[in-house]
Amino acid sequence: MEMQVVQRARENFLAGRSRPLEFRVQQLKSLQRMITDRQGEIATALKQDINRSQYDTPLLELIGLENEISLAVSKLAQWAAPRPVEKSLLTISDQVYIQPEPLGVVLIIGAWNYPWALTLQPLVGAIAAGNAAVVKPSELSEYSASLLKALLPRYLDQELYPVVCGGVSETQELLRQRFDHIFYTGNSTVGKLVMEAAARHLTPVTLELGGKSPCYIDKDVDLRVACRRITWGKFVNCGQTCIAPDYILCEPSIQNRVVEGIRQTLLEFYGPDPKSSPDYGRIINQRHFNRVMALLDGYTAALGGQSDSSQRYIAPTVVKDVPPHARLMQEEIFGPLLPIVTVSDIDDAIHFISEREKPLAIYVFSSNKKVWRELVIKRMLAETTSGGVTVNDVMMHYTLNSLPFGGVGQSGTGRYHGKHTFDQFSHHRACLVKSLSMERVNMPRYPPQNHQKARR
Ligand code: NAD
Repeated sequence: MEMQVVQRARENFLAGRSRPLEFRVQQLKSLQRMITDRQGEIATALKQDINRSQYDTPLLELIGLENEISLAVSKLAQWAAPRPVEKSLLTISDQVYIQPEPLGVVLIIGAWNYPWALTLQPLVGAIAAGNAAVVKPSELSEYSASLLKALLPRYLDQELYPVVCGGVSETQELLRQRFDHIFYTGNSTVGKLVMEAAARHLTPVTLELGGKSPCYIDKDVDLRVACRRITWGKFVNCGQTCIAPDYILCEPSIQNRVVEGIRQTLLEFYGPDPKSSPDYGRIINQRHFNRVMALLDGYTAALGGQSDSSQRYIAPTVVKDVPPHARLMQEEIFGPLLPIVTVSDIDDAIHFISEREKPLAIYVFSSNKKVWRELVIKRMLAETTSGGVTVNDVMMHYTLNSLPFGGVGQSGTGRYHGKHTFDQFSHHRACLVKSLSMERVNMPRYPPQNHQKARR
């Protein structure tokens, strides 16, 4: 079944159907129509999958996607055009350029936490770059997956952009097929399996993985604003965001004020009982609920800590004074638990971050009113590394499609958003177009190499 889907996509790609720019634009506009027409159904599916609030669905999932589509539509001719490059003396009268061209049939494997954005944003770039694409949504967000399977063929060419649903065995079957690129979003354990399967065919991969993204709060900062921004980023989508701040680093002297700032913000956001707030989400399934709850074992929460397994509800929870080697600090939390680890100063914070795996994101909060404050930000930027970074806010670097989004090291490989997605799904072909004239210029490279020839 999976084999036939891939084969049909390849036949259609080889027939050249996905290549004309007008066709790509028409498919992208149709995808845009799907989002506009079906916004209500998409929001309902997300409510069923993850209790996503009606307000957050456009904000977190659809607006970014629509921006990506309209950018691709308006810039496609420019992106797909030959890119002239510098010439050498020998090629001065020739054409020298880089031609982006489609790779072929690509596989997009999406994750469940933002099932529409994480599946369709890569698809936008794959279509724009002229590829065929097999789309595999996550089975964990099952309502979104079946809605996508029902909708996409109504709006897009079904031979070129088929949707394959299913779990591990279907994905593994797909991974046995030969693709020209695999774009995977999800955890790093499966990321390794994807890379292994791709290696068998020498298929290049983009791996959008996760990790523990640190958030350093300097002691001289507007804590009210910092706590509001951090609380939003941590607890939106019930903590199930790949670039959510995973843990806080701060000096002991401000720890209690940080907790108090988060407490006040939680009250503002979700009221005294987050369980009954329409704006607070749920954990995707029982397995993840148990996993997140197990991380809390042995801790007393400074805030929250309540849970209800029947609803897969976990209250927004903050844990103070977490030891650096505690279990909470070993794996990505991917849930609404926020540990605070105290460090003695900026040096200690940088050391803490640098001796761990390279994270997907780093956040640093510091007042920029004084000169030495700027040093905190500058040092954090200069002495650490991560996929991306936002200073004095969280996650917002993700929203700019001019910035490449992706990880580094264990947090992933490859990048996307905007033109970066187009480039990720393109081969950049080196092109030199010469004429048959001016042969004299070429004589020195032909044998025999002797002085007589040089004079000929
Ligand atoms: P998931 O369980 O939905 O898995 C992702 C995909 O892998 C799914 O399509 C699934 O069918 C497939 N899959 C699962 N097990 C497989 C197996 N054994 N073999 C082959 N395919 C398999 O999602 P998840 O991994 O729980 O997602 C959460 C993780 O993803 C977190 O670590 C998070 O940080 C990361 N993430 C990263 C980004 C990013 O953009 N970098 C975005 C979202 C999530």
